[in-house]
Parts: sequence; structure tokens; C-alpha cells
Amino acid sequence: MNILLLGPPGAGKGTQAKRLEERYGMVQLSTGDMLRAERASGSALGKQVQAIMDAGKLVSDDIMIALIASQIAGLKDKGFILDGFPRTVPQAEALDVMLKKNGITLDHVIELTVDEEVLVDRISGRFSCKKCGASYHDRYHQPKQAGICEVCGNTEFIRRPDDNAETVKARLAAYHQQTQPILPYYRTTGVLSSVDGMAEIDEVTRQIEAILNKSKG
Ligand code: ADP
Ligand code: ADP
Ligand code: ZN
Repeated sequence: MNILLLGPPGAGKGTQAKRLEERYGMVQLSTGDMLRAERASGSALGKQVQAIMDAGKLVSDDIMIALIASQIAGLKDKGFILDGFPRTVPQAEALDVMLKKNGITLDHVIELTVDEEVLVDRISGRFSCKKCGASYHDRYHQPKQAGICEVCGNTEFIRRPDDNAETVKARLAAYHQQTQPILPYYRTTGVLSSVDGMAEIDEVTRQIEAILNKSKG
């Protein structure tokens, strides 16, 4: 099964993707994580995207499409969860072409909806595992064992430089202007479902699983 998680920054895409990865063996394709890994490695691509990311703007479509194209064919048999891509209409169109070329279908597009004030609060309190990228929150989601990542057992955490109140505004604006316009497209193809992302993390997971299970029957 191949799915796409859509939603504004802080909606819970990464949190849910990690859970689905664990339960269903699908592979999370997080373009944000991929770009952060490029930055950490000091690659030319990492250096190129650094300033854009820190300003909360979108990296160019050409770069993003190439990044996803390099991964997707290899995941045909495992199934994937797209998290953070596509974010623009040209990216959505390019994804379509890529999928058709590889004989892959998107089974579900799931939109997580969350109120804007809550997003700022979520992003301001977010910290992530340095090794696997799992997201935690100062108040809403501490690791079960303090200081130990629930997903990979790592003990080092980081805060993203773009997770500050100022940059969040730019990221939300980018979402409204450039990403939301892709929703009608998925609505017409009939694969789009919306889930209330304001609910507790476990409840959001249950709602997503209900959507995934419907298609099996
Ligand atoms: P995204 O990948 O969409 O940017 P994350 O999954 O990183 O979002 O979640 C953003 C922040 O909100 C994280 O700190 C995470 O722990 C927290 N969070 C995620 N889902 C929920 C939820 N349903 N309720 C409360 N906090 C949440
Ligand atoms: P979020 O918490 O907003 O979901 P991500 O981790 O997905 O953040 O992305 C972090 C940053 O990486 C974005 O603000 C943007 O600069 C860049 N980025 C990630 N995915 C894309 C994409 N598909 N298109 C353009 N830029 C992207
Ligand atoms: Zn981890």
C-alpha cells in the first residue's frame, strides 16, 4: 500500500508516518528528513538548500522532484508513506508521471487538519531524535522513557533551526499559497480523506488505520 500524508507544518505527519512504518512495514519518505540529512553530511545539495530551509521557504521543484525520483522506484514492493512531498502543483504533477511510469498507484491521500494557533504551539515545543528523526513535544509527547527515543533507542535529540515562531509564519504562508492548491486534484481523483489532526496522537492513528483498513475489505 502506498499513501500520502498531507497537512501544514506541525500537523503530525511525521509522527503518524513513523507509527505506520512500524506497524505496516511501509517506508516513510520524508523530504524534510532527507534534506536535513544532506545538510548534516555537508553535501553540496545540503549547502544549497540551507538558507532556503532556515527562511521557511520551499526548495525548488527540480531539486525535490529529483530527490523523490531517486527513491520511489526502489520502494515499489514495500509500499511507502510520502511525508512532505508533493508541496506544489508541479511536484504533484511530476509525482503522477513518476508513479505511472513505475506502475505504482497511490491508495490513499490523507489530509491532517489542525487549527493554526495549535500548529504554532506544536512547532515551538517540538524536538526530534537526532538519529531517526522521530518527533517529540515538550508538553504533548515526551518519550515514554525520559531521554530515550521510543523508535530507535537513541539518546540524542535536536531542535530544528526553522522551528521558531518567526519562521513558522513563512512556512504556514508557503503551505497556504503553494501546497493547499494540490488538494482539489486529489479530491477529484477520489483518494482523498480528511482526518481531525487536533485529536490525541493515538486517536489520529486509529482514524488513519480505519481508512487504510476500509480498502482491504
Ligand atoms: P509534521 O511532520 O506534520 O511537521 P510532527 O509529526 O513533527 O508534524 O508533529 C509536530 C509536533 O506536534 C511534534 O512536537 C509532535 O510531537 C506533536 N504532535 C504530533 N501530533 C500531535 C497530536 N495529535 N497532538 C498533540 N501533539 C502532537
Ligand atoms: P514540516 O515540519 O513543515 O512538515 P519538513 O520537515 O517537511 O517540515 O520540511 C522542512 C523544510 O524542508 C521546508 O520548510 C522546506 O524548506 C523543505 N522542504 C521539504 N520538503 C519540501 C518539498 N517537497 N518542496 C520544497 N521544499 C521542501
Ligand atoms: Zn530515534
